[in-house]
Amino acid sequence: MTFAAAVRSAALLALTATACATATSRVELDGITVVTARRHFNNVHAIVAGDRVLLVDAGLQADAPALDRQLRRAGVDLSRLVAIVVTHGHADHAGGAPWFRERYGAPILAGAGDASMLQRGRNGPLCPTDGTARRQLDHHQHARFTGFTADRSIEGSLALGPEFGVPVTGSVTAGHTEGSLVLTSPAAAWVGDLFRGTILGHGAATHFYMCDLADNQRDVDALLAAAPGVTRYFVGHFGPLSRRRVARWAASRSTRDPAPHGRARARRTG
Ligand SMILES: [Zn+2]
Repeated sequence: MTFAAAVRSAALLALTATACATATSRVELDGITVVTARRHFNNVHAIVAGDRVLLVDAGLQADAPALDRQLRRAGVDLSRLVAIVVTHGHADHAGGAPWFRERYGAPILAGAGDASMLQRGRNGPLCPTDGTARRQLDHHQHARFTGFTADRSIEGSLALGPEFGVPVTGSVTAGHTEGSLVLTSPAAAWVGDLFRGTILGHGAATHFYMCDLADNQRDVDALLAAAPGVTRYFVGHFGPLSRRRVARWAASRSTRDPAPHGRARARRTG
């Protein structure tokens, strides 16, 4: 790295560390409120519907108490927590879930395909999609959390409204992990790591780790087509994103050379 590149990189790091590492945001949508607490660049979303609260993801195990304080400071009454949905079994999404379950007595819901990852408390094989991810791979591949069993395993899809009073549906969207879930309400989607936000700005980007980019692209296109009323996408990292930004990114991506997909796939088996 040249000195200029090093300075740019340090400046970007400082900017992102101050602007994005820890933050809280609130979005009102069609009768629900979404409060997002970000810690170490990982998002936890509290969906508030009437007197019910649903958590989407729970951050790193070590961050759970701080995320709890952050959400309560933002006015989320976690004594009303009805469930914790883990979008997938990676440490930065699932690690804190048992802490919230223990504290509030709410069940954990997760995709059936990630059950063994959750029980082991370790991430499955990660396929980096860019240089940043390759540099971080060792750290992320070896992340650990105390293994646990979800109270409910979702196969196919599950409407949470009837049982939990929060009008969202969880659907298994295998790709980033086998049991990855996408949640949708009439106006919003919570996509976990199906894609991410850009580090700066409000765009969408390919997630740092994805083994089959062609399959990922099909899933994103299918989500856009299947839920045309969704205007807001809540992602695991950075965001949230408007439909226009996601659609623009998805369209630009589909015109690119498919060669990187093959390279990503090769790394998985290598
Ligand atoms: Zn992930």
